[in-house]
Amino acid sequence: MNECGVCTCSLSFTARELTRPFDSGAKNRQATEGERDEDERADETRATCTHSRSACLGVSRRSTIYPEIRIYEVGPRDGLQNESKFVPTDVKIELINKLAGSGITNIESASFVSPKWVKQMSDGPEIMKNLHRKPGVNYPVLVPNLKGYNIAKECSVEEVAIFPAGSESFSQKNLNCSIEEGLKRFKEVADQAVKDRLRVRGYISCVVGCPYDGPISPKSIAKITEELLAMGCYEVSLGDTIGVGTAGSVRKLLREVLTVAPPRKLALHFHDTYGQALSNLLAGLEFGVSTVDSSISGLGGCPLCTGSKAIGDRFKSNNKILSQMALCDI
Ligand SMILES: [Zn+2]
Repeated sequence: MNECGVCTCSLSFTARELTRPFDSGAKNRQATEGERDEDERADETRATCTHSRSACLGVSRRSTIYPEIRIYEVGPRDGLQNESKFVPTDVKIELINKLAGSGITNIESASFVSPKWVKQMSDGPEIMKNLHRKPGVNYPVLVPNLKGYNIAKECSVEEVAIFPAGSESFSQKNLNCSIEEGLKRFKEVADQAVKDRLRVRGYISCVVGCPYDGPISPKSIAKITEELLAMGCYEVSLGDTIGVGTAGSVRKLLREVLTVAPPRKLALHFHDTYGQALSNLLAGLEFGVSTVDSSISGLGGCPLCTGSKAIGDRFKSNNKILSQMALCDI
């Protein structure tokens, strides 16, 4: 017997049921169970399940209806923070304005981490004060702690993003603290933001793999997701920071995370290190997760990880940047 791999319903299916065609158009399908990998079988389980829980789409792979995609552009922050040469503030502002002009309505525009850590992002306050804010466009910023939050608030931001790590070692390298300490620190920020009626978005880095700790347990990511939502995050973006995810590992991750959060509260943030980002996104879409983080021209990548790059990047990361530490990457 196999249990539903997507939602928490108690339906279970025999191997025979799993191998039967799951829609009339598939009647001629000759594949045997032996020809399918674990993920395919789980997909069929999902196809068979008719549970009403929103996490379970109840559609077959052959008739999947993809949701409308919401783009959350992070290039001006996640992309530019990786540039070795300082990008002038007016150029950053022009980029953000052009992105808004293109019709994108969520543009992560700056980071309020210490300038000591990320020099490239040291002009966050200038950017936010001089930006022409287009009505209807959301201009969130990254904040690492209360100090950063307070500076961001002075710049009249309406949304802040917090970013605990999914692995212990990455948390130490990126935030100089354990996952637990990081969550405590971010809870202070979230509490204040909720009080001030600002929106809070959560990121989790290294959701499937870490350059130091290796594969990451989906259960631990689900737990962090749950904590972020409990803090008041309206959405949690799952970051494959080093781009080691595959459609299979992303499905395993989502099966676990969707037990604590509906798809509408999740976003996909996949780096394209090994050319898997698009197939990973497709795997996420099949689970109904429809918010996708993008980075204009594939800018960016994780400075802590060799070869990590954002979606569409065709250039190797700069090795000098790779040697930097504590950069608040996601
Ligand atoms: Zn990223």
